[in-house]
Amino acid sequence: MKRIGILTSGGDAPGMNAAIRAVVRSAIYNGMEVYGIKRGYAGLINGDFVKMDLGSVGDIIHRGGTILRTARSEEFKTPEGMEKALKNIEALGLEGLVVIGGDGSFRGAIELSKRGVATIGIPGTIDNDIPFTDYSIGFDTAVNTVVEAVNKIRDTATSHERTFIIEVMGRESGNIALYSGVACGAETILVPEIPFTINDVCNKIMSGYRRGKLHSVIILAEGAGHGFDVGREIKNITGFETRVIVLGHLQRGGTPTAFDRILASQMGGKAVELLKSGMSNKMVGWVKGELLVTDLEQILTAHKVFNIELFELANILSI
Ligand code: ADP
Repeated sequence: MKRIGILTSGGDAPGMNAAIRAVVRSAIYNGMEVYGIKRGYAGLINGDFVKMDLGSVGDIIHRGGTILRTARSEEFKTPEGMEKALKNIEALGLEGLVVIGGDGSFRGAIELSKRGVATIGIPGTIDNDIPFTDYSIGFDTAVNTVVEAVNKIRDTATSHERTFIIEVMGRESGNIALYSGVACGAETILVPEIPFTINDVCNKIMSGYRRGKLHSVIILAEGAGHGFDVGREIKNITGFETRVIVLGHLQRGGTPTAFDRILASQMGGKAVELLKSGMSNKMVGWVKGELLVTDLEQILTAHKVFNIELFELANILSI
């Protein structure tokens, strides 16, 4: 394989730049040429390509976001969009493509591989909702960002003896809520994977209050409800003052943690190795401390396993 492309697609995630750097440098080391495709699949359609060299990925390993930019492209899902993309790929002579993104981006990668373009996916999303990998790039950074924010909120929660509801990202996944909730010692973690009632949440707040707790921190995954609705309901039932904080996009930014940089570097290196050995339609994952290669189709049909043991432990530790 002589010439490959790389793109980032869907939501950005801290560590994507470390993955781009790893792909570009590993590919050049292996004698390949690399083209960066701007704004995900939109750039494939518009022919927005830039030749990458060793220097073009210098000084980016510590930066959040993605130097290639990212986008969502509805046009790419249409036959006309796909045709334009394939023409550009052929004109440039790209034989392989590395796609860094979430499951939507992998659907696009599968479509390309069906049409003869060797594609390798790297899971890049703060949500950590991709099966066959324990972690996706950006998740660890996002969890640490939430933990830092909650540390600050705790100070005022204690001083004012209030119940704080902190809504975190994750789309349909409760992973950011679970991991940050455990790390923060949250009183309650609400996730879409585990059904709950507001009455149960209120009973826990009140029993904590009776035994002298000064505050209550509730971490709510966005997929499990809206912070302001939950806050209003808790106030109505318990009479306690509630404060709601929606952390929002600050969870997507910031300098990636060492863990995310190392994960991204290893996944990027492996993606190039797979393309070099003629593989296609695969995702590079990280399971139990080792790189794992899985068919992209399998990723889309499987469900991410929720860590029930960790959730139950969190409940025990917050009684
Ligand atoms: P993520 O990759 O973070 O899950 P999206 O679901 O928004 O993000 O998908 C990113 C992009 O992947 C879409 O804008 C589209 O260009 C492409 N994509 C998604 N689904 C398909 C599909 N079925 N066929 C082709 N391309 C797709």
